Amino acid sequence: MSLPSETNRVVGRYDCSLGGPLFLTVGGLHGNEPAGIEAAKRVLRRLEEESIPLQGRFVALRGNRPALALGTRFIERDLNRVWGPRDLLGLEEREAELDGPDEAELRGLVQVFAALLVEPCGTASFEEVVLLDLHSTSGPSTPFLCMADTLQNRPVSFALQVPVILGLEEALAGTLLDYMSEAGHIAIAFEGGEHTDPDTVDCHEAAIWCGLLAAGCLKSGALPDMGLMQTRLRKAAKGAPAIVEVLHRHGTNPGDGFVMDAGWSNFQVVGSNEVLATDGKGEIRATLSGRLLLPRYQAKGDDGFFLSRDVRPIWLTVSAWLRRNELDRFLHLLPGVQRVEGDSRRLRINRRRALFGVRQIFHLFGFRRFEEDATGYLFLRRPDRLDS
Ligand SMILES: [Zn+2]
Repeated sequence: MSLPSETNRVVGRYDCSLGGPLFLTVGGLHGNEPAGIEAAKRVLRRLEEESIPLQGRFVALRGNRPALALGTRFIERDLNRVWGPRDLLGLEEREAELDGPDEAELRGLVQVFAALLVEPCGTASFEEVVLLDLHSTSGPSTPFLCMADTLQNRPVSFALQVPVILGLEEALAGTLLDYMSEAGHIAIAFEGGEHTDPDTVDCHEAAIWCGLLAAGCLKSGALPDMGLMQTRLRKAAKGAPAIVEVLHRHGTNPGDGFVMDAGWSNFQVVGSNEVLATDGKGEIRATLSGRLLLPRYQAKGDDGFFLSRDVRPIWLTVSAWLRRNELDRFLHLLPGVQRVEGDSRRLRINRRRALFGVRQIFHLFGFRRFEEDATGYLFLRRPDRLDS
């Protein structure tokens, strides 16, 4: 198999003209994170060389190509923050020649996704779309993943056996996951480890294989060393919590002098009020006790760090049961909670009247994204597929 050149959008694709899911990977959505592309090449090579039977189609894509060429996170705009309605509308209203370098990449990816989604596989159309968005971190980290809190995301996510972060996807606006989850697809952002660590490519590779198996693209036994891939992820994530949920984001602005204190690592336990970083105004302390997530040790970006708490797996079982029984129909009976007419995915909340702890109840039903409009506060959830 000849792989297309290093600048092509499509790294490679593989199918056996059999019906099944469309399994997509994106590597290098951030240009200083090329490990996911290398991992996808390894998987494509093995699929081809060993003629491994695959249900559906596997397509590996490159993210931000100009940023990859320069080894920088982005050129002008973070390509993982531009997938919101305003930027997508901007693409439609603007001539392509007026796109900035990262916006041109957004346009290219949107077009490629649209074409791939409708292209048949053999005589079949796709039963399911699964996206694995492959990233790496600026500091040392065990591998982990983020997903929108939908029922359909859970089986593939938990099959990867690395810590699952809930609520991070919802805390960031305009991510690729945002775009795919809103369309009801299965979408996972997998963070394989530190940018330059060779183990990161190994973890990305294992995540692709395990994802293909969990999505139903591979039958068990199709890859002789699948057990090794699973063990690789399990070992890399040893000692880390199974599930955490994000409760606080410390956002930063250019020029505010944010500097993370040295020595913090992902998932490290922090005490309330512990000093974590500094900026122009002085020390920045933890607002709650829990685990630190994604301490930022690179110049670019607008997330300083996140704080999270561990979630006991029983709560996921409870939450799946509540959602399948559509008990969200009764949430508006809680004090300070109101329905939004004609919109079952949003609830309006009066913060003065709402019960303490209502946010935890909302989380069980997947209402994690917080919005503010002229009339007050809203919680939004991603579309669940109740048969998942
Ligand atoms: Zn990234």
